[in-house]
Amino acid sequence: MRQLREGLAAQRMSRIPPYLFAEIDKKVAAKRAAGVDVIALDIGDPDTPTPEHIVNAAREALPHVENQRYASYFGMPALRQAVAGWYQRRFNVDLDPDSEILPTLGSKDGISHLPFALVNPGDIVLVPSPGYPVYLTGTVMADGEPYILPLKAENGWLPDLESVPAAVAERARILWLNYPNNPTAATAPRAFYEAALEFCRRNGIVLCHDFPYSEVTFRGYSAPSVLEIPGAKEVAIEFHSLSKTFNMTGWRIGMAVGNEAVLRLLGRVKTNIDSGIFPVVQRAGIAALEGPDNHALNATYEARQTRTLAVLRGLGWRDAVAPDATFYLWLPVPDGYTSVSFAEHVLDQAGVNVTPGNGFGEHGEGYFRLSLTVPDDRLDEALERLGKLTF
Ligand SMILES: *Cc1c(COP(=O)(O)O)cnc(C)c1O
Repeated sequence: MRQLREGLAAQRMSRIPPYLFAEIDKKVAAKRAAGVDVIALDIGDPDTPTPEHIVNAAREALPHVENQRYASYFGMPALRQAVAGWYQRRFNVDLDPDSEILPTLGSKDGISHLPFALVNPGDIVLVPSPGYPVYLTGTVMADGEPYILPLKAENGWLPDLESVPAAVAERARILWLNYPNNPTAATAPRAFYEAALEFCRRNGIVLCHDFPYSEVTFRGYSAPSVLEIPGAKEVAIEFHSLSKTFNMTGWRIGMAVGNEAVLRLLGRVKTNIDSGIFPVVQRAGIAALEGPDNHALNATYEARQTRTLAVLRGLGWRDAVAPDATFYLWLPVPDGYTSVSFAEHVLDQAGVNVTPGNGFGEHGEGYFRLSLTVPDDRLDEALERLGKLTF
């Protein structure tokens, strides 16, 4: 019988690390199998249900045959209209529903596939570190070369675009930005987007803003869209997602908006990969975007942030500041630990799972991320255990 050959994996696989959370899931599964009641503060996934009016819209759509068949590749006109209305109300940005909006199967779909549309082998993609891992792996899968932009506390976790060598900027096709930021919880001011747009225009780079946390904000902070800046559409697209805004991570619905030529290319790639969003989910998405905002949820996250920071300050993180957005806390590990050794220490001593910062790239080393997306009673149990942590 023929055996599969030794080098089964394609060469590019050696450049794609196993997906961070898949590895962590394995460690936690082993602990749980050993009887430990692990509290997961690692993955960012809203714990409260999708709002009822959204679920009801899906329930009503489900029995109808037109919602059970192949969807349009480019989303229902009504969904694109709903996105346009939402961008208009929320950001005062006008989008043409026919050419400037492309629904996606969650933003991960668009982010991972964009390099196939824009990057030739050897072209550079500017990738922030720490950052959402898919900016890098999507680049590598398309045979592009990631050029790492270090994000540092002293720069407010914003990349220093002027430090990118001219020869690199010249070969770059995409700049990834993400504010409010995962994992650092940093936000970016309008002036930063203005400078980034200018940098991209000067170098012929597509600015891709990943914007899933625009609505997860606290204390009156309102996150700006890059598309609010006049002329942004000439070089920029923005990825948005209903996942974090409306507790819809499992539904898989998001959208790319902005530059028409870029969206047309991304749409062409996607027609060869997927067959559109389940129409029932599109109906739910329309109900979400046209219905009331979900901002009441932010009070829950803010209260969790306050309680968690109180415990962490008592443990020694005295300068920890409450971030204005996202449901994450991003903190340095104590002296003597690496990101991974500290995450393992917390898992072993407290049965609490945090994400080691280096999982978000080399410049995340020395940090860890806590996600506040567990029910209040579980968070309180985790905080009680963490309060007794020694290191
Ligand atoms: C959650 C997240 C996404 C992916 O969201 P989906 O729409 O569920 O695919 C993308 N980018 C960042 C930074 C995220 O945190």
